[in-house]
Amino acid sequence: MKKICYIVAMRAEARPFIEEYHLKEVKDFFAPYPFLLYQGIAGNIELSVVLNGEQHGSDLVGCEAASITTYAAIERLHPDLIVNSGTCGAFKADGAEIADIYIGNAVMFHDRRVPGDDAWGTQALGNYPVWSKAEELARLLDFKTGKVTTGSSLDMQPVDLEIIRSNGGQLKDMEAAAIAFTCSLTQTPILIVKSVTDLCDGGEKTFEEFSKNLAAASQALRDANKRIIPKLEIVFDEE
Ligand code: SAH
Repeated sequence: MKKICYIVAMRAEARPFIEEYHLKEVKDFFAPYPFLLYQGIAGNIELSVVLNGEQHGSDLVGCEAASITTYAAIERLHPDLIVNSGTCGAFKADGAEIADIYIGNAVMFHDRRVPGDDAWGTQALGNYPVWSKAEELARLLDFKTGKVTTGSSLDMQPVDLEIIRSNGGQLKDMEAAAIAFTCSLTQTPILIVKSVTDLCDGGEKTFEEFSKNLAAASQALRDANKRIIPKLEIVFDEE
């Protein structure tokens, strides 16, 4: 039986999916860390959902939490595939709409500006590999694809925009590149599934737009993952 491990930042993003698959919390699995584990079976797949947990009274988001949660999940669960399922900002100019689903076909950091030679610049941007079957899966299910870029902030400064767009970025989040970085160290394949909560070029205030659309985007993530999981069974069988 193949093991698939979802890494999700916010409980609100994961809840509809956890309920759909009747996943059960495995209490204190990661103690003393705050990471949360939910598990169940979906067809011929052992399904785990790992959340970062919380600190200071809110869900842990961002790269630091994503990196160590992913590290712990890989060390303890030995998944065949990591899936980062979460929300993102996207661009109206690319035809993105609220609650659209995208599969990441590339992933990098957009707010690590390290001067020096090409090697330092290359390390800063990251550009980690994504699962070789990601494009095929998107085609099979008719999902859009795009390059995900990750930074430590919800807002977007002009320098972020410049780096995102000059590198072909389309989807802006706070975790995907950190998760892909950890996966790159262990050669664990990563699939990135993103749902749009806000439009970076839409003129609305990001936090308000994000909050307004979080529930709809999280339901879209559940529906997308419900279509993805049976296809993963087929793709794994072909290997
Ligand atoms: N204060 C918010 C915190 C959410 S942070 C709250 O209480 O709900 C935003 C989360 O959504 C991160 O996990 C990030 O990956 C994702 N996200 C959605 N839209 C984003 C955007 N435009 N830029 C960066 N991250 C975004």
